[in-house]
Amino acid sequence: MLYLFLLFVIGTIVGSFLNVCIHRLPRGESIIFPASHCPLCHQRLKAFDLVPILTYLFLRGQCRYCKAPISSRYPLVEFMTGAFFVVAAIKFPLLSLSFWFAAVFSALLIIVFFVDLEQMVVPDVVSVGGISLGLLYNLARALAFPQAGEANPFWSALAGVILGFLLFFLIGALGKFLFKKEAIGEGDLFLAAMLGACLGWQQLLLAVFLAYLLAGVVSLVLLAAGKLKMGDYVPFGPALVSGGLVALFFGQQILNWYLNLFYVV
Ligand SMILES: [Zn+2]
Repeated sequence: MLYLFLLFVIGTIVGSFLNVCIHRLPRGESIIFPASHCPLCHQRLKAFDLVPILTYLFLRGQCRYCKAPISSRYPLVEFMTGAFFVVAAIKFPLLSLSFWFAAVFSALLIIVFFVDLEQMVVPDVVSVGGISLGLLYNLARALAFPQAGEANPFWSALAGVILGFLLFFLIGALGKFLFKKEAIGEGDLFLAAMLGACLGWQQLLLAVFLAYLLAGVVSLVLLAAGKLKMGDYVPFGPALVSGGLVALFFGQQILNWYLNLFYVV
């Protein structure tokens, strides 16, 4: 139990760095310099201003120096990163390659989720980095566990990259033909390819299916609540990210369950 708590704390510290990336990447700023500062009063933040989650609660969501409101996204990202680190440690052998991969992959997905939600773009550096990460990880797995009979994870990842690009290129082309406007952003193509590289083509299909399900439900709820009008642009990245995270942690169970529906005698 203690190590899970420790991993949660480490996750919240990583999450605090992800917040910096979420703010600075779409603005083209360096994620290292300058040191963290309040975007309004530019006061440089000291160590006790940067304690994940607790600083936000202690300061009641305001800058200590100018009282400007701090977005609730900050503690949320810190909490989510901590939680995903804990789930990764429960789902995968502690400190194994799969654990590290799950931790880094979910951190990249958290960045994409919030940048796309706030700025409607998927940063190339994250998606291209994610494609490389996935291909390298699955190559390492293919080399380390060359079991006969099991599908080669590297070929599955490579097929996932191609399928991700192709699928969203076709969906985009179809949307353009039907609705006469851009339905799929270029960023979504790269994000789908990243999910394919990291999860393999089978889990990519599951992630895309879950993403459409989620996007459909959320759009209906927002339409019903009057927060969305027909024809409004809704970023698809957050839905794809959610589908990808479910596939990462529960994909194998879901696929096994689904296949069992058909193969039970
Ligand atoms: Zn301030």
